Amino acid sequence: MNPFEYVMMRFVRLFRQLHLSRLIWLSTSTRMFADYFKGFEKTEAVRGIFGDQTEEVLANLKVEFVWFGYMGVDNTDGHLMVNERYLNSGDQTDIYLDVVHELCHVKQWMEGRDLFDPNYDYVDRPTEVEAYRYAVLEAKRLGLSNRQILEYLQTEWLSPEDLKKLVRNIDVDLKTPDSDAQPL
Ligand SMILES: [Zn+2]
Repeated sequence: MNPFEYVMMRFVRLFRQLHLSRLIWLSTSTRMFADYFKGFEKTEAVRGIFGDQTEEVLANLKVEFVWFGYMGVDNTDGHLMVNERYLNSGDQTDIYLDVVHELCHVKQWMEGRDLFDPNYDYVDRPTEVEAYRYAVLEAKRLGLSNRQILEYLQTEWLSPEDLKKLVRNIDVDLKTPDSDAQPL
């Protein structure tokens, strides 16, 4: 099996377990996470965040569908915010990794940490570095190549310098040339 097939197989296996409900009609914008993001409680990555509390946390987590951005966590009560257009049309791997990233923030919020600490730039903020690092490690575990991971990290709000800083802060080797998809 070549690395590409391996990666595809991992995705197919993962996404068969996860069901992202398409949002066709909404009467109110706040719903329960578990009604739209199914199977996340079974993934190793999410269990690694919440441990034994995984089922309880996800069962109580609210999700608000918004019209801007991608995803985020509300700092006042720790609920997830998701742009429904992104959920319906975004890349499934990106969405999955974003959910993993945001669930790290949910955990940080539960621990009483400030998710928007103004003393730090975005790419230096400890809560961001931690969430990005966790998502990158999950991407590696899935078998994404370093190039794919860097593409995932490259967003319109990061300048090339910020991206470099973020990668340095995440402190996971993303420099090794591709063909690094490895079996678990
Ligand atoms: Zn974040």
